[in-house]
Amino acid sequence: MNAPMHYDAIVVGAGQGGGPLSTALARSGRRTLLVEREHVGGTCINEGCTPTKTMVASARVAYLARRGADYGVETGPIRLNLAKVRERKRAIVESFRSGSERRIGATEGLELVFGEARFVGPRTLAVGDRTVTAELVFINIGCRPAPPDIPGLDQVGALDSTTIMELDAVPEHLMVLGGGYIGIEFAQMFRRFGSKVTVIQRGAQLLPQEDDDIAGAVLAILREDGVDVVLEAQARCAERADDTHVRVVIHESGGERAIVGTHVLAATGRIPNTDRLNPKAAGLETDARGFIRVNERLETTAAGVYALGDVKGGPAFTHISYDDYRIIRANLLEGGHRTTSDRPVPYTVFMDPQLGRVGLTERELKKQGRAYRVASQPMSHVARALELDETRGTMKILVDPETRQVLGAAILGIEGGEMMAVLQLAMMGNLPYDRIRDAVFAHPTLAESLNNVFVALD
Ligand SMILES: Cc1cc2nc3c(=O)[nH]c(=O)nc-3n(C[C@H](O)[C@H](O)[C@H](O)COP(=O)(O)OP(=O)(O)OC[C@H]3O[C@@H](n4cnc5c(N)ncnc54)[C@H](O)[C@@H]3O)c2cc1C
Repeated sequence: MNAPMHYDAIVVGAGQGGGPLSTALARSGRRTLLVEREHVGGTCINEGCTPTKTMVASARVAYLARRGADYGVETGPIRLNLAKVRERKRAIVESFRSGSERRIGATEGLELVFGEARFVGPRTLAVGDRTVTAELVFINIGCRPAPPDIPGLDQVGALDSTTIMELDAVPEHLMVLGGGYIGIEFAQMFRRFGSKVTVIQRGAQLLPQEDDDIAGAVLAILREDGVDVVLEAQARCAERADDTHVRVVIHESGGERAIVGTHVLAATGRIPNTDRLNPKAAGLETDARGFIRVNERLETTAAGVYALGDVKGGPAFTHISYDDYRIIRANLLEGGHRTTSDRPVPYTVFMDPQLGRVGLTERELKKQGRAYRVASQPMSHVARALELDETRGTMKILVDPETRQVLGAAILGIEGGEMMAVLQLAMMGNLPYDRIRDAVFAHPTLAESLNNVFVALD
């Protein structure tokens, strides 16, 4: 083996935290190595947010094209060209990825190496035939789809969240295992592309972390769109029914039955990429599922080694990985004292209409024994939604009766993610809801409806 090469800092994984961190480290004058085993940009740009939301946009156009007559616009028969949808998706992914690559390439003092890194000792990694060491090591290696433990599934060519976006023809009947946000986004997308879709969900509701009324409203929308959803159903096994069909046997309260479709998508969670990192050699502790243990400053159990993004467990979102980068930058490069505690964790389920979520749910408030009041309003009472003919969904905002501040919000409605961000800002500024109720918002915007939603509280 060659003599180890020494750097000031090594970043493993060019994901949503690792990419910007590597450039910040290099710009601070540290000789930095960025190691990436596949492609710059990580899951978000290549297999996650960017491609899915690009395809969700195509699905929405198909939906609106079919609804043209509702708006007085007559269209002909709608035909979906999935190869074209994929081409558009690939082009956007490629432009985002090459933009990130260019930024990295243009940074003085930063070296990008393609290869898989594996610890061989404290702050020492092997990458191909090189051994590299550094004072500071940052792990940003993310997660990948977890194959569910269902006998026969590996024999029937099950799709995952990455491979489904590479199909060149619309499946006749897609069976989706899992009713989390990834399963839901693909289920509605492929229904709009023209597939028959069946979602098989183990739990009693879709989106298990949400309040049951919100999950119920999501279910109603999917069913209205023609997606079959089977709840409290455990997939037992899968097998080929014939050359083009797959049979999935499910167990429900009524007993066992088979669902036959042409394609299966496994959307049953993600596992960390630590299995090939050899974290023990570096003194890194992981939990039972392989996530790297960190404290609220993102320090691992090994001195000088940090973990950021999905690989540390907890909320797995791009904006969280990016904020992890900001925490490390603040603490190591700017003399700050930032931690992960008390940061908001907003997110949006990009079904249509979107579900924007921030703060606590009603279930969490009940569990904490906290007093709260609920302000709610169906989207069918929102003038802007009526004008757009997009009245599905509801707003649910939880407030503290004493301080009158917003504790949490679920906005299921057209552009629900953007509406949620308005409430997040109010939470960040500790605004009492009266200020939102009496604010002058431009008419007729969706945000303007926040004047009305609180009126019933007083
Ligand atoms: C289908 C889908 C849709 C999603 N939609 C959203 C969304 O709408 N909004 C949102 O916020 N989040 C979304 N996410 C989640 C989001 O993609 C991740 O939370 C985000 O990418 C953060 O990841 P990260 O920075 O931890 O690492 P990643 O982006 O996963 O990057 C990790 C990188 O490390 C590399 N790597 C792994 N092991 C090694 C190794 N040993 N050596 C070198 N390199 C290695 C990988 O190749 C990868 O490039 C979605 C995810 C999926 C799968």
